[in-house]
Amino acid sequence: MEYIDLKKQYKLYKEEIDKKIWDNINNATFINGKDVTELENTLASYLGVKYAVACSTGTDALLIPLMAYGIKAGDEVITTPFTFAATVEVIFMLGAKPVFVDIDERTYNIDPSKIEAKITKNTKGIIPVSLYGQTADMDEINRIAKNHNLFVMEDACQSFGAIYKGKRSCALSDVSATSFFPSKPLGCYGDGGMMFTSNKDIYEKIKCIANHGQQGRYNHVMLGLNFRLDTLQAGIMLAKFKYFEDEAEKRKAIGAKYTEAFKGSEVIAPYLAPYTDRSIYAQYSIRVKNRDAVIKKLTEKGIPTAVHYPVPLHLQPGYQYLGGKNGQYPVSEAVANEIMSLPMHPFLTDEDINTVVKAVKEAL
Ligand SMILES: *Cc1c(COP(=O)(O)O)cnc(C)c1O
Repeated sequence: MEYIDLKKQYKLYKEEIDKKIWDNINNATFINGKDVTELENTLASYLGVKYAVACSTGTDALLIPLMAYGIKAGDEVITTPFTFAATVEVIFMLGAKPVFVDIDERTYNIDPSKIEAKITKNTKGIIPVSLYGQTADMDEINRIAKNHNLFVMEDACQSFGAIYKGKRSCALSDVSATSFFPSKPLGCYGDGGMMFTSNKDIYEKIKCIANHGQQGRYNHVMLGLNFRLDTLQAGIMLAKFKYFEDEAEKRKAIGAKYTEAFKGSEVIAPYLAPYTDRSIYAQYSIRVKNRDAVIKKLTEKGIPTAVHYPVPLHLQPGYQYLGGKNGQYPVSEAVANEIMSLPMHPFLTDEDINTVVKAVKEAL
């Protein structure tokens, strides 16, 4: 059994993916080719946003908008300690300070009721992370941000395809960032990312920053870098995107089957908030008391697992200058001790699901 079955996916769409790859090699427009623009337009219209800008990675998709907002030393940006390192790396990289807010015990996303206490005169924005494929409570976060004149950037690296109150993740905040890392719900065959916004001013800045701050050739109007996505990756994603909605529905159904099968057991299955119309289940993550033992038993049976994330960011050795202490973000710490992810991809069969669930229950 595969944790994420990219080989199967390739086999199914091989003809179209191969055609895109060879067309782009034959065209030799490897940088800023037409598939990059086509992918941006395709995804923007799918999401219902005005603008999309492709870039090199999900991490860069988080960094570029912060550069566009002029984030610098002395500024503070609010996010959670229960996320992948990239969310805070980008704040550090600009010399600003990440300010952590603990997560909601059930959704694992930022707890909006704890945000206001952390806002200071230096706070510039909020980065809610839509973890495991379910969005944060974006309306509530946007309301708080508006009251304090802050920007909101959804870290949607795990939630492209999720639906919140009828609207799509990536279309819920001033700007958003997603990742096309191969194992994400919509992945490419290398590194890639994209930013989305309906704000023309932000769009123009992020577009410019992603291409050396150029307006026209060799006219550098602001500080940028090379953050481009290559045409080959854009082409591969255009081929794969045709099947994305179908895969998204399959993920939703598989998530529901897992959750149904865990009912009545000690396993804490993913909680879907009332505002969630669809989780994309970038991960299907459960909580168990004896995680190490469960992982060991599953590994013995050939069932792959993963832990996202075992150590909250305030306790990471590289980030100690923030003064993080044990007990500071108790919900994040408790969840980090019990969380584990099970195989999740659109091609899991009912038999696969039963095998995994049976093995977990036996290991408890
Ligand atoms: C994957 C991920 C990122 C970074 O994306 P890359 O494409 O790997 O740079 C950022 N934030 C979250 C929550 C992620 O899961």
